[in-house]
Parts: sequence; structure tokens; C-alpha cells
Amino acid sequence: MIQHDRLSQAYVFVGPRGSGPSALATWLAQRLFCTNLQDGQPCGECDECRRVLTGNHTDVLTISPEGTAIKADAVRGLKEEMSKSGMEGNRRVFIIEDADG
Ligand SMILES: [Zn+2]
Repeated sequence: MIQHDRLSQAYVFVGPRGSGPSALATWLAQRLFCTNLQDGQPCGECDECRRVLTGNHTDVLTISPEGTAIKADAVRGLKEEMSKSGMEGNRRVFIIEDADG
């Protein structure tokens, strides 16, 4: 799917709280943004990869629950961000921790 560029513009990953972005989410985000792919794999060393890994990538948003559940405000903000990303045509990755509360 990735190689044929058919993934949608926004990706949402949900994972257990405290575990941080899952390995898959991190890998896929790096795969999307890496500027130095090695045989189709993210290099893990370029600025993009590093920013994904450290949680500082502007197009990779991680939402963590405040308290025991993600607040409605956070969900609203997420929806706004997702609609914006669609209009701008930029790929963005959203990682939601413990969305089930
Ligand atoms: Zn890279």
C-alpha cells in the first residue's frame, strides 16, 4: 500500500497508554517522512526519522489522555487538525494513546 502511494492522508494509531507510539506507528511515520529511505525502509538517522522518534515531528501528533480519558477538547482539536490536513494535502500521523480510556 505504501509503495503504491495509496494510503490516505491521515493515519490514526491507537495504543495502550504509557507505551508511547507503537513500533508500527513509529515505523510507518518514519516510512512516510524519511528523506533517506534505504531499500524502502526508513533510515532512522535523518532529521525526519529522528523527529518522529523523539516525538518532535510537526506532522506526527501524539495525543495522550489527561486523567483517565481523552478529553472532549482534545478530540475536537484532533478532528480540526484532521480536516485541516485534508485540505492542505499534507500527510499527517495521529497517535492516540489509550483512546478507550
Ligand atoms: Zn530517515
